[in-house]
Amino acid sequence: MGAQIIDGKAFAAQVRGQVAGHVATLKAEHGITPGLAVVLVGEDPASQVYVRSKGKMTVEVGMNSYEHKLEADTSEADLLALIDQLNNDPAVHGILVQLPLPGHLNEDLVINSIDPAKDVDGFHISNVGLLGTGQKSMVPCTPLGCLMMLRDHHGSLSGLDAVVVGRSNIVGKPMAQLLLGDSCTVTIAHSRTKDLPDVVRRADIVVAAVGRPEMVPGDWIKPGATVIDVGINRIEAPEKGTNEDGSVKTRLVGDVHYDSAAAIAGAITPVPGGVGPMTIACLLANTLTAACRANGLPEPEGLTA
Ligand code: NAP
Repeated sequence: MGAQIIDGKAFAAQVRGQVAGHVATLKAEHGITPGLAVVLVGEDPASQVYVRSKGKMTVEVGMNSYEHKLEADTSEADLLALIDQLNNDPAVHGILVQLPLPGHLNEDLVINSIDPAKDVDGFHISNVGLLGTGQKSMVPCTPLGCLMMLRDHHGSLSGLDAVVVGRSNIVGKPMAQLLLGDSCTVTIAHSRTKDLPDVVRRADIVVAAVGRPEMVPGDWIKPGATVIDVGINRIEAPEKGTNEDGSVKTRLVGDVHYDSAAAIAGAITPVPGGVGPMTIACLLANTLTAACRANGLPEPEGLTA
């Protein structure tokens, strides 16, 4: 394997360390403790795990964590009332509503009811528009983490050919905007793209955000390209044996076929341990940025786009 492994776990620990340092300074010099409110509706097991680890890491960097767990049948009016309360609470600098929401709740309506200045997920339509027009915004955490890793690896991204596979609102589209902002020549590929292997083969930077296990093989990768694998897919791993209930054990894989891609790429993020840890680190960075902006203080360098 020739590729340099981009260690997202170590990078994320470094980002969280930077955030913790800035939080300590904010407290000592300005008496401000950034606060992140996370709202979870219902009992989706994966969401519960995410919310728990977000809360734990928020506290670890010295911020206040406010968790709001609501019943699965919470009405839209009650959820909107809570968001209104958090919007008006000066101790809360960041608000995250864990997605997906139960089916009876309108996700767009709920997300767009968050004060854009506190929208640390960067999904509010105002932040989408600000990002799209190159203005200061709250940047979605996963693409921000990818951008940080790319900047760290390449220095300047200017003029590089970037292909983003996937056009979701939470990953693909904001990723493409960020790469464009850094002067890459950007192609967004999706399920209707013709000759996808040839499109990917042109890229100096490939960001795979598809949700299909190991879909991108090594022979789609240009030699020396940088590969950022956003995918998190659980597949059966018979080589690991079976669970007590007789079911086959599983493992996590990305959207890129790691071994074949690592043999040809210049650098690659692993799954797990690549993009995943950066997402929560960027959520904390966004909360810090929001707290600085809310108080008219300069933003820490290098923690946003
Ligand atoms: P999504 O909303 O399902 O979007 C998937 C995108 O992939 C769509 O734009 C779709 O195209 C495209 N696609 C599907 N099949 C394709 C194919 N055969 N060829 C080319 N494009 C294809 O997914 P997402 O929310 O962006 O997430 C993508 C992956 O990233 C998932 O594995 C998810 O678990 C992971 N993820 C990871 C993190 C993290 O923290 N690391 C965060 C978010 C998501 P169409 O638009 O044409 O349907």
